[in-house]
Amino acid sequence: MILQKDLQQYCRKRVLKRVIPCIILISIFATILALWGNIIFSTDNKAFQASCYIVVLLIPFIITGVPHKLMDSTYYGTVKKVDIVTTTDNDSPVKPTREHLYLKNTIYLSIEQPDGKLIYKKAYSGKARLQQNINTYNEGDSVFHLYGTNTVVVIPDSNDSTVHCAVCGSSNSIENDKCRNCGHSLVKRI
Ligand SMILES: [Zn+2]
Repeated sequence: MILQKDLQQYCRKRVLKRVIPCIILISIFATILALWGNIIFSTDNKAFQASCYIVVLLIPFIITGVPHKLMDSTYYGTVKKVDIVTTTDNDSPVKPTREHLYLKNTIYLSIEQPDGKLIYKKAYSGKARLQQNINTYNEGDSVFHLYGTNTVVVIPDSNDSTVHCAVCGSSNSIENDKCRNCGHSLVKRI
């Protein structure tokens, strides 16, 4: 599969957006250590000093979430199984009195890739009472996920009049080539 140029660019920008702050922070921390390391960690124990340096240099990774946040990939394939799991929403900052208010649905898809490999991916997560996306994914659908986005889109078949943007998830007319919301190219076939 060949991605449109602007989508490739989008992926590259997503990577840079996360890597650059990490590199900047490491440079700042390294400079501070190089200039004042001996004063900040003033000790004769070289091994202890070295471990202090390592801990300090690990802080940028914790702050920026790199490399964990970079671990995503573009994938596509055919849906073999849809699992909708309803759980209590622990992420919710509010603590409503009635439990059903903070249940959430998470949709997992078993996807068969073109090479026959089966992957298991989270496609959606949201408040259960909204019942969003419950019927979006069906067995046999072709789905596509672009690196760095939060959406898994269903590739339209010949009966569909709409196509969803792989970047922002907006619904567009099948005749459009660009998303009316974010302007990225629409993926209509694979
Ligand atoms: Zn869009």
